[in-house]
Amino acid sequence: MTFVGRPNVGKSTLLNQILGTKVAITSDKPQTTRSQVRGVLHRTPDAGGDPDGGTQIVFVDTPGIHKPRTALGEHLNATASHALRDVDVACLVIDATARIGPGDRWVAARVPADAIVVVNKVDAAGRDAVVAQLVAAGEIPAADFVPVSALTGEGVDTLVRLLLERMPEGPPYYPVEVVRESPDEVWVAELVREQLLAVTRDEVPHSIATRVTEWEWPRVRVEILVERESQKGIVIGHKGAVLKEVGTRVRAQLPEGAFVELAVKVDKDWQRRPESFHRLGF
Ligand code: GDP
Ligand code: MG
Repeated sequence: MTFVGRPNVGKSTLLNQILGTKVAITSDKPQTTRSQVRGVLHRTPDAGGDPDGGTQIVFVDTPGIHKPRTALGEHLNATASHALRDVDVACLVIDATARIGPGDRWVAARVPADAIVVVNKVDAAGRDAVVAQLVAAGEIPAADFVPVSALTGEGVDTLVRLLLERMPEGPPYYPVEVVRESPDEVWVAELVREQLLAVTRDEVPHSIATRVTEWEWPRVRVEILVERESQKGIVIGHKGAVLKEVGTRVRAQLPEGAFVELAVKVDKDWQRRPESFHRLGF
């Protein structure tokens, strides 16, 4: 099953809430998710899974669909649209705190008629606003409408139950220990990017890319790419304060003893050159 929707509606937060562990990075900046992120939910028969053998739901989180301004933006849209093919259930996520706009409608026109519309952020909207949003969402041709809060978990069980009912019979795709699909290298690079998104603003978040260049566990070296010399200074911070803070926050999310080395490099306009962002794994 796959989540689609405008940037910032809470798709990645919802995926993490459903899985009960972090598999996708999130931020208050749009276009945080740059590639398809997969997470796997395993439900035994006594926890609501299929009576014979349980149920597995493979979730695909996607970049938000938006009006592209760069080659990277176009690529992200294509990735999100692609994820809609070959899935059993599509979930269109909309934000309860914002009017349904052209962005939502554009995505809505691309989901199948049996999609589930998820109205997220009900914790921040108030009862009347949630009801109004559900009514407004009724214009979208879809099979089910579920109000949730990805932040508090409200309504998430109902959504999971709906999804469990919809899963077709078949052999499991993943072993039960797999929850996050991305390799450790990709995950650590993502964690670094998440923390950089939290501390930078304006155009800087969009200009950042990260990749692991050395992996000698517990020592990991991560390269941070920015587009301009001026951004390099921002990312490093006064006497390296920003990098230090980022390193500390990332280490806190890794197994004990991890040593994360961060290096910043200028790669002018990496977003505009497909060969450059494909090399980064998008
Ligand atoms: P995505 O771009 O759709 O993947 O959105 P994210 O999951 O990165 O979330 C975007 C922002 O919305 C983050 O700052 C989240 O903390 C916030 N957010 C997500 N879900 C909720 C929610 O249910 N309630 C509130 N109040 N904020 C949320
Ligand atoms: Mg996301």
